[in-house]
Amino acid sequence: MDALSAEHPEAGIALRFGNPLELLVSVMLSAQTTDVNVNRVTERLFAKYRRPEDYLAVPVDELERDIYATGFYRQKAKALRGTMERLIMEHDGEVPESFDDLLKLPGVARKTANVVSAERGNAHGIVVDTHVRRLSQRLAFTRQEDPVKIERDLIRLVPRDDWARFPHLLIWHGRKICAARSPRCEECPLAPELCPSSRV
Ligand code: SF4
Repeated sequence: MDALSAEHPEAGIALRFGNPLELLVSVMLSAQTTDVNVNRVTERLFAKYRRPEDYLAVPVDELERDIYATGFYRQKAKALRGTMERLIMEHDGEVPESFDDLLKLPGVARKTANVVSAERGNAHGIVVDTHVRRLSQRLAFTRQEDPVKIERDLIRLVPRDDWARFPHLLIWHGRKICAARSPRCEECPLAPELCPSSRV
């Protein structure tokens, strides 16, 4: 982590948001697309939809149009509306702090709940996305393929205080150096001593 922190001092969430509701919406929209794409959409979205009620006040096809560029817009619009209904009915229109309550929101899977909890300073686990999975395997932190089992292995290795920062470091490293197809081991600060998959 020291080596990766030195290499990627800017590592952090790339989604732009101003409050917990915007954080939740951004993470829900980020499935199957890039953070850059989500930020492009949410810049206008968040000016128009400020409270959970706003997502329910428009016809569903209007919401679908407003999030269209993030892809899978029908499922995402349905999940957003279901989540907003639940927030209004059960949480006074606020995003719950509890991980288990987050998981009960329609369309909120473990990864989304983990990202939201971590960014609110209350990491419940470790986010496992495609980069975290690949790097954890290359660095021999896990032999698992299933994200939940990978997370279980990582939780045993990473100090709790670093649960939020750790995935950002791996994600940043995965994007910039340890790419899926052609890792640039010759430029990597983990090579060769810290990485059993190093090609140098
Ligand atoms: S040494 Fe190579 S395989 Fe290992 S983390 Fe660095 S870039 Fe990835």
